[in-house]
Amino acid sequence: MAINGDSNVINRDAFRQAVVNTLERRLFYVPSFKIYGGVAGLYDYGPPGCAVKANVLAFWRQHFVLEENMLEVDCPCVTPEVVLKASGHVDKFTDLMVKDEKTGTCYRADHLLKDFCKDKLEKKDINITAEKAAELKHVLAVLDDLSAEELGEKIREYGIVAPDTKNPLSDPYPFNLMFQTSIGPSGLSPGFMRPETAQGIFVNFKDLYYYNGNKLPFAAAQIGQAFRNEISPRQGLLRVREFTLAEIEHFVDPEDKSHPKFSEVSNLEFLMFPREKQVSGEPAKRICLGEAVSKGIVNNETLGYFIGRVYLFLTYLGIDKDRLRFRQHLANEMAHYAADCWDAEIECSYGWIECVGIADRSAYDLRAHTDKSGVPLVAHEKFAEPREVEKLVIAPVKKELGLAFKGDQRMVCEALEVMSEEEAMEMKANLESKGEVEFHVCTLAKDVTINKNMVTISKEKKKEYQRVFTPSVIEPSFGIGRIIYCLYEHSFYTRPSKTGDEQLNVFRFPPLVAPIKCTVFPLVQNQQYEEVAKHISQILTAAGISYKIDMTGTSIGKRYARTDELGVPFAITVDSTSSVTIRERDSKVQIRVNVEEVASVVKEVTEGQSTWNDMLLKYNAPTVVDDE
Ligand code: AMP
Repeated sequence: MAINGDSNVINRDAFRQAVVNTLERRLFYVPSFKIYGGVAGLYDYGPPGCAVKANVLAFWRQHFVLEENMLEVDCPCVTPEVVLKASGHVDKFTDLMVKDEKTGTCYRADHLLKDFCKDKLEKKDINITAEKAAELKHVLAVLDDLSAEELGEKIREYGIVAPDTKNPLSDPYPFNLMFQTSIGPSGLSPGFMRPETAQGIFVNFKDLYYYNGNKLPFAAAQIGQAFRNEISPRQGLLRVREFTLAEIEHFVDPEDKSHPKFSEVSNLEFLMFPREKQVSGEPAKRICLGEAVSKGIVNNETLGYFIGRVYLFLTYLGIDKDRLRFRQHLANEMAHYAADCWDAEIECSYGWIECVGIADRSAYDLRAHTDKSGVPLVAHEKFAEPREVEKLVIAPVKKELGLAFKGDQRMVCEALEVMSEEEAMEMKANLESKGEVEFHVCTLAKDVTINKNMVTISKEKKKEYQRVFTPSVIEPSFGIGRIIYCLYEHSFYTRPSKTGDEQLNVFRFPPLVAPIKCTVFPLVQNQQYEEVAKHISQILTAAGISYKIDMTGTSIGKRYARTDELGVPFAITVDSTSSVTIRERDSKVQIRVNVEEVASVVKEVTEGQSTWNDMLLKYNAPTVVDDE
């Protein structure tokens, strides 16, 4: 059984059911707190699920952190309110919600509209005209672009009601997705469970920049849990309330967004879905990345570089390249400060799902934290020759400030220095007319009185030796659970058992991802073979290869079927004391290898130094075996 974009709804649901049943039965994941009835949007990963996740994260670290020399950090999930107030999450991290007017049950407004349109189109409702069908398609294409009012209008126009009760719905209104908490026992220090890991990186920018030798560009990375109180979680692992994010914040000079390694990805060609195509109803198209950047479809090289690297990452993991596309955000969908945004979307039985967001967030985040904290999160470019410019000069008089503010002098000084031109000129005018002004110092969380002896503000012709600027940030943000779920669907297939009366499940995970790299079976239960199996397992352990040993007397066919269902790529069968067979999961082809060589063969193939084909050539005379 397989699925592609054209499969009808019934096939899609049956396929998904088969995948999910296998995943839950084999403990890839299960609903959390199941014995108490579970909680929507919370899942546990069992042993194979943990192993797959660890492999995906290890590869992420290798492909991104190691390759780009990124600075990895690990920050707390509990975050004080001030940080998320500065970032805009307290005020704006919302989804639009509607309520069943009688029962109070909550729904996501855009999801109801999406379901309505898809249902009408998929069921090919005979009452809808071609014109209406085109309209519904257009609504689906611009769904993410609709305001609360527009969503409300459509819900009313289409007569959409609460799905369970058919009761009328309220108008859409924003619901903040963050889980609120309180830090410490007093209840006076509000906090939130972080909805993304990025803020931890931004607030550490100054130290990370210093750690990097005060040089740009550089990237910081973080893997960690994120929490979002989703309105109506559904779609299994795809929309959950706690999930693992892997995020990169690549800091770059806004005046130079070229990337030295762009040529390494510029020839890649894959499905791209620019904004104009979505709005005009055209399909996504294969575009060469180099061309997309040179024609300005993608805003800049660094953003393009990460799009290319994300494509490589996902396809190495085993995502089908024909069911992967990069979709550009629509104008309203994108935050106002963002320069450009693309989502890596993967098609699965639920449709096209955003799995990685890749955004050029400009200087927004660092500016927001500079303003709120009073700590300048800026970079410096030293000039070869000094340049003459007219500049705002804010010169705090440290001696006066020291006398007035003692230990707080440094904070006041820093806050004065980061004033915007507008603020500074207003302060100058007030100091000249009144002699003193009240000034709010965020880092002290209070107002202080500044008098005219404490600071001089002027516009002067100055020699500049350096440029001080707020870096732009390019952020690829990976939803690890979503990627893994799509990978499960893309890897799953069934094949008939030898007798033909049963369908056997297989996950064709690449060895890189497979939760267990090999199994070891003595062909029959006898002491000699069991000893060889134990010896092989010791060599595998020493080589760092995960394996499962199965000494049960179950038929070899059944043992193969059990491990195929876990996606184990290689099965080692001990049928003599000197050599064993290694069987590859998908082709079922076997090679015969000396006992002492087994671990190195499996290691080479799973770590990618050799391919299975290399091994077929090396150990020639492959045979397809009767393994049932
Ligand atoms: P965002 O910050 O909203 O762009 O989200 C970043 C990434 O997190 C997305 O590309 C998704 O892969 C993932 N993600 C967002 N919300 C959820 C969720 N509720 N459950 C699972 N993954 C999510």
